[in-house]
Parts: sequence; C-alpha cells; structure tokens
Amino acid sequence: MILVSACLIGMVCRYDGMSKADEKVIRYIQDKWWLPVCPEQMGGLPTPRDRAEIVGDHIFSLSGEDVTEAFEKGARETLKLAKMACATEAVLKSLSPSCGCGMIYDGTFSGRLRPGSGKTAQLLMENGIRVVSEEMMGKG
Ligand code: SF4
Repeated sequence: MILVSACLIGMVCRYDGMSKADEKVIRYIQDKWWLPVCPEQMGGLPTPRDRAEIVGDHIFSLSGEDVTEAFEKGARETLKLAKMACATEAVLKSLSPSCGCGMIYDGTFSGRLRPGSGKTAQLLMENGIRVVSEEMMGKG
C-alpha cells in the first residue's frame, strides 16, 4: 500500500486551488494499491489557502498566521491512515511544508530552499515509512 499526495494525481487540493498532476507518479501507482492523502486538508485548512512555510518548529502562512497546529494535525491524521492501511511507502509532493522530503522552502517566502522535510513527511519517516518525492522518482 502506497500513500500518495492527492495533488500529484490531479486532485485540486493545493494552496492555490490547483493540482500538480505528475504522469510519472500516476504511472507508478497504476498497478498498485494506493491511497490519496492531503495532510493540509486533513488538518482542517481550507482550499484555497495562504501559502505557508516552516520557520524553526513553527509554520506560518504568508499573512503571518501561525498554522502549526493544523499542519501537525494533518500529519497525525495521515499517519493514522497509513497505519490503518498498512502503508509501507509514500510518494509525496516535493518542497511542501507538509509533504516535502529532504528539501523545503527556507521560511522567507523568497523561493529559496534549505534541507529539511515537511511535517507529514517527517512523521511518516519517523514511523518507518519510506518517503520519496516525485522529483526523486526514477533517480535511483
Ligand atoms: Fe499536495 Fe501535500 Fe500540499 Fe496537500 S498538503 S496540496 S497533498 S503537497
């Protein structure tokens, strides 16, 4: 069972009300069992919503609201689903403050990146789930 970021398979759940469908990901999951998740929606955030970035242990929206609690709730709910579904792997959207894996925006809303992972990706990895991003797929 594979968890997959819902925006990567064409669900319009991103902060900007759009999707980020990725043909590579769709092909990869086609003959497998998979479950779409959007941690930010599962944390109770609306769509569309403000962009958000991680600053230290907190997450702030572009307008300065501390949205840490919603992001953490989304991560916990995603882990709950992962456990119920016995998922061993997750294909998550790169750079997102929830789903990003290995590299995220640096918290300045300037487009700069830093090493790190989103709240959900981090929690899944801490619980033994292999997380890859669509960017990492096919790179070995
Ligand atoms: Fe996509 Fe994850 Fe953001 Fe939801 S939280 S829109 S699944 S990147």
